[in-house]
Amino acid sequence: MADPAATTGSPDGVPVPAGLTVLSGPSGVGKSTVVQAIRRNCPHVWLSVSVTTRQPRPGEIPGREYFFVGEREFEEMAASGQLLEWARFAGNYYGTPREPVAQRLEAGRPGLLEVDVVGARQVRLAVPDALLVFLAPPTWEELVRRLTGRETEPPDVIEQRLEAARAELRAESEFDITLVNTSVKDVCAQLVALMTAQPADQPAE
Ligand code: 5GP
Repeated sequence: MADPAATTGSPDGVPVPAGLTVLSGPSGVGKSTVVQAIRRNCPHVWLSVSVTTRQPRPGEIPGREYFFVGEREFEEMAASGQLLEWARFAGNYYGTPREPVAQRLEAGRPGLLEVDVVGARQVRLAVPDALLVFLAPPTWEELVRRLTGRETEPPDVIEQRLEAARAELRAESEFDITLVNTSVKDVCAQLVALMTAQPADQPAE
């Protein structure tokens, strides 16, 4: 488990200016809440919209949280190289459309992806300069509380997600930086600061 006092952990302790920032961490840690807050409060931050085969949750709008597709369509997208990365998580596929991210990078503009740990590893290989941010829970008990308190998922899905979370927590050392999710507001501010840190000759967006 991460030390809650240590919010940055890049090898030399200095945040790295990033083109592409990847927010990852265990299911239930609050990644999507952080992303929702950024979508609401920081409209200048470009967010990748993933493709998934899971059913929309109440309040989710196609094309905003996700593009919702069938299994066959997803498999075709993956097979034809349209996805930068993809993973199967708790019985569903999730993937990042490649083209919008490529366009963003070509333009030299920052962007944010929210993916599971398996996806983050693939982004590391595809975009070695990406800044990989691990969002850690304050404690394991807090993560269990958040996962079991979600009334949108049936018990077998929650159990799958707990199992995945144990493995995902062990991946923390593969990331450039850990942010501990003690406050959504603080995590958003830290994330946006990391994303908008630009080399001196590039204007921040
Ligand atoms: P949820 O169903 O709760 O929205 O997402 C389940 C998990 O899938 C979360 O850990 C989320 O970060 C991850 N996820 C969302 N989009 C993507 C994606 O495009 N690729 C990968 N690999 N994981 C994703």
